[in-house]
Amino acid sequence: MIVVMNPEASEKDIKMVTEKLKSMGFGVHLSQGVRRTIIGAIGDREKALSSGLEAMHCVEKIVPITKPFKLVSREFKRENSVYDIGGVQVGGDELVVMAGPCAVESREQLLQAARQVAGSGAKFLRGGAFKPRTSPYSFQGLEEEGLKMLAEAREETGLKIVTEVMNQHTVDMVAAYADILQVGARSMQNFYLLREIGRLDKPVLLKRGLSATIEEWLMAAEYIMSEGNYRVILCERGIRTFETYTRNTLDLSCVPVIKRLSHLPVLVDPSHGTGSWHWVPAMSRAALAAGADGLLVEVHPNPAEALSDGPQSLNPENFTNLMASLRSLAPALGRSL
Ligand code: PEP
Ligand code: MN
Repeated sequence: MIVVMNPEASEKDIKMVTEKLKSMGFGVHLSQGVRRTIIGAIGDREKALSSGLEAMHCVEKIVPITKPFKLVSREFKRENSVYDIGGVQVGGDELVVMAGPCAVESREQLLQAARQVAGSGAKFLRGGAFKPRTSPYSFQGLEEEGLKMLAEAREETGLKIVTEVMNQHTVDMVAAYADILQVGARSMQNFYLLREIGRLDKPVLLKRGLSATIEEWLMAAEYIMSEGNYRVILCERGIRTFETYTRNTLDLSCVPVIKRLSHLPVLVDPSHGTGSWHWVPAMSRAALAAGADGLLVEVHPNPAEALSDGPQSLNPENFTNLMASLRSLAPALGRSL
């Protein structure tokens, strides 16, 4: 449930209500809006209703959150969440493009990719140093060496870094290098990992599971937020359907659905969503038109030589063209790029 404070409520009132809720065994999450403060309280609603809280002058009302996801929901927070990540806004009017290779393969490959995507207007460099591969015989990533290369690319280009963390044992290591921690589709329901990440003060890009429903995905975000890390960005990356012509089926209808259910920013990954670079430009534009806050796109200096996901990676020229078309589309959507 949420405790909506009166617009006139003072810091002292908020503290008093917070302490009271805590003493009754509630998990307490503050959301400071422009006009008023909302206190999210996770626990027994009946207990709160009989506690006399609603009779306090500083409390306007107590509202139950009917959805199974609480902190994630629009009921908890009406305005869109916008995060400032190293000076880049995610979730605001400006669309954000995160681009780069599927995997960090070498220093040269990564720096080349970073210069190219930065030159075309990307704000984040993506690239996995830990790769969740279907086959144990495929390239698994450069691990910490790869993370160091990402940090060097950030140093040189100013791009922020988004990179995947695969298990709870490497969370601290990856977090030491990344600006955003990526949780991959295959890890979306690794609840130990989600909880561990939830204890950090670091933004998270949470990809949708291969066969996850929207509700399961939002519940995964709730795991992270329930530990106190509120900066979650959702990323649609295609789901399994009967269709095999495309690698996955990019579920763009989830974008307006989530925008209604949740205040969290939503990105779309048209690369994994389709599996072929041919479909990436059209689906990128469609994603933004559907209301996505940005894109996660695979770009490789030489896709034919990529160690993973070459067929779905744009080459630098195609990426530059895509960015130009997005720039002309943005104003029609009331956004900037
Ligand atoms: C990736 O972004 O490189 C990746 C592995 O994505 P997903 O987890 O969506 O398959
Ligand atoms: Mn990939």
